[in-house]
Amino acid sequence: MFDNLSGKLQKVFKHLRGQGKLTEENIQEALREVRLALLEADVHYKVARDFVKGIAERAVGREVMQSLTPGQQVIKIVNDALTDLMGGSAEPLRLAGKPPLAVMLVGLQGSGKTTTAGKLALRLSRDKRRPCLVPVDVYRPAAIDQLKTLAGQLGLPVYPSKTDQRPEDIAREALAFASREGCDTLLVDTAGRLHVDDELMAELERLKKILSPAEILLVADAMTGQDAVQVASSFNERLGVSGVVLTKLDGDARGGAALSIRAVTGCPIKFVGVGEKLDALEVFHPDRMSSRILG
Ligand code: GDP
Repeated sequence: MFDNLSGKLQKVFKHLRGQGKLTEENIQEALREVRLALLEADVHYKVARDFVKGIAERAVGREVMQSLTPGQQVIKIVNDALTDLMGGSAEPLRLAGKPPLAVMLVGLQGSGKTTTAGKLALRLSRDKRRPCLVPVDVYRPAAIDQLKTLAGQLGLPVYPSKTDQRPEDIAREALAFASREGCDTLLVDTAGRLHVDDELMAELERLKKILSPAEILLVADAMTGQDAVQVASSFNERLGVSGVVLTKLDGDARGGAALSIRAVTGCPIKFVGVGEKLDALEVFHPDRMSSRILG
């Protein structure tokens, strides 16, 4: 991930570091290249523009340019700015309140919702919580079976949803089921569509009312770049998204969604998916990601 961007930025900064003193022109030239590298990484153009503008304001000043290591200072400014761009610090799940707490997973079909539900269930079990799962996608029997299989692998309870139930009834009954099973967290795998559509959003709004979820996590496929950012915006406008799980970062060489989603939508990335296996879910640390990009 971030291979191209990383290579490009490292080249720009190697050049800067090689110069004893920096002129304003040196810095502006480097920032032009940073902006191009961001655009090539599929970062939203407004995000790239504002990012570079913010750095220019901090880097083109007497303090930086007359310091003994101006190149190093500019790199630090870029590192801090990249970290801020991605949200500053890691955002944990907020799971305080009276159990069972619902966590809704929403997103388009194929984004990785069901897999992520399994991954989160594993993580929560390891954190000494007791999660259970519920599939709400009554339109796709295969999706229900997939979640049941995952729950079986994890040895966790799963509410036995049926395709002839209404999603709202499933939600109500699954909450009661979670209480009966002594579970503190109910992971709700909602239906997805190929595109954002009104009917689905209306269903998700009704589920939100019933479940009063502690978290609404939007699951988005990093490989779809700016589309993932658009999808996040749409879901956030209708539902209010408390966090993003960006999946398939292992297959995303560019990284545009990871760099833009927070700035465009205001929603923090809480986790990233880095593989198909159930343990391939990492907490998203903006500072570590930034250092990784800058090498
Ligand atoms: P859903 O339709 O949103 O429930 O999506 P699924 O959970 O069924 O995932 C769709 C495909 O993406 C499956 O083949 C998953 O194995 C795969 N997948 C999900 N998350 C990741 C990830 O982080 N990395 C990779 N490489 N594949 C993933």
